[in-house]
Amino acid sequence: MSKTITLLGSTGSIGTQSLDVCRMHGYKVFGLAAHSSVGKLLEQIREFRPRYVAVTDPHAFRRLKTELAWQPGAPTLLQGPEGLRELAAMQGPDMVLNAVVGIAGLDASLAAIESGHDLALANKESLVTGGHLILDAVRRNRVHLLPVDSEHSAIFQCLQDRRSAKTLEKILLTASGGPFFGMKTEELRHKTKDDALRHPNWHMGAKITIDSATLMNKGLELIEAAWLFGLPEDKIQIVVQRESIIHSAVQFADHSILAQLGVPDMRIPIQYALTWPERLPSPAPELDLTALTQLSIAKADDETFRCLAACKKALRKGGLAPCAANGANEAAVAHFLKDEIGFLDIGRLVEGVVDSDSFGGDYTLADVHECDRMARAYVEAHI
Ligand code: NDP
Ligand code: MG
Repeated sequence: MSKTITLLGSTGSIGTQSLDVCRMHGYKVFGLAAHSSVGKLLEQIREFRPRYVAVTDPHAFRRLKTELAWQPGAPTLLQGPEGLRELAAMQGPDMVLNAVVGIAGLDASLAAIESGHDLALANKESLVTGGHLILDAVRRNRVHLLPVDSEHSAIFQCLQDRRSAKTLEKILLTASGGPFFGMKTEELRHKTKDDALRHPNWHMGAKITIDSATLMNKGLELIEAAWLFGLPEDKIQIVVQRESIIHSAVQFADHSILAQLGVPDMRIPIQYALTWPERLPSPAPELDLTALTQLSIAKADDETFRCLAACKKALRKGGLAPCAANGANEAAVAHFLKDEIGFLDIGRLVEGVVDSDSFGGDYTLADVHECDRMARAYVEAHI
């Protein structure tokens, strides 16, 4: 059955792989959104003919407007973060897929849910920064929240039998370990942006690739899992699975463990979020188990990788602590990508912000944005 989607963050790694899935199944695109990649957007507009396109960067908006002037059938353009929110809320698609990077995706996630859309969520920062707002909006609007993150898709797939799901006892959240697996603090001290951008198993956007090297990504995913599946920090065990073949597992009351396996290809979880509860043929290759030479398991080292330790602490503290950790990380990673701070500074800054306050209980969307600003200011003051 054909579907129509709105895709936010269409020019990124998840965005372009989502369009592969749409292309394969003949899905239509109602709206596209990106920040500044005008060239890629133009190609996508030509191929998918969306009715609306939102561009958050003002220069890119003007360039795209000029490029599309007088073109028959050109989409209506929406500008800035307001345009992104407006597009997320528009009626027309069967669902919205949010693949924006960072807290910039939060308001759009909320807008989509509040408008009654099912939301396929790659933007884990939405749950990390505003988990309580997202979950509350999902309940009130009775919509579905479908995880795109490979680990959370794996867990979601393992929980499809509702009777077993009621006895969920523990989640085994897998991690590749990133490019610096096995290294200790002194070896990490002089790691550069280029070292950190070389991920062994996945080709992803720059920010999440750095997050994978620091294990911040696993910390964010721990918080994401806690919101999605309702377990506390001590019931979510992080397990290093170097080959990224086991995408995560769950343990039930009878101590039976169920896992989801597959090649490391994001088009599998993206497609499951778009087709759930159905399964369709995949553009991704099949996994040949007999060709695997090893399937290794190890513990995650949060003594060395302080971002992971900080996220565990933030989850235990609750309130806005995860939002603060995320804001500090986004700011620190931006500095690291400009060679302005060292690799270990990222963990120092994230841990520092989590330790700087108690972070309270319930919050509003305005509180989330205020906390994010505070965390970024903390980073500027401590680099
Ligand atoms: P990319 O950096 O490749 O793409 C990010 C997308 O968001 C681009 O379309 C970009 O537009 C857009 N964008 C950037 N900044 C803004 C902004 N301020 N406002 C609106 N849009 C913006 O990231 P990924 O695709 O790797 O990741 C996207 C999300 O998915 C992240 O939350 C990540 O954690 C999550 N994820 C990614 C995985 C992966 O394999 N890549 C796996 C699991 C989760 P432009 O190109 O114009 O800058
Ligand atoms: Mg993941």
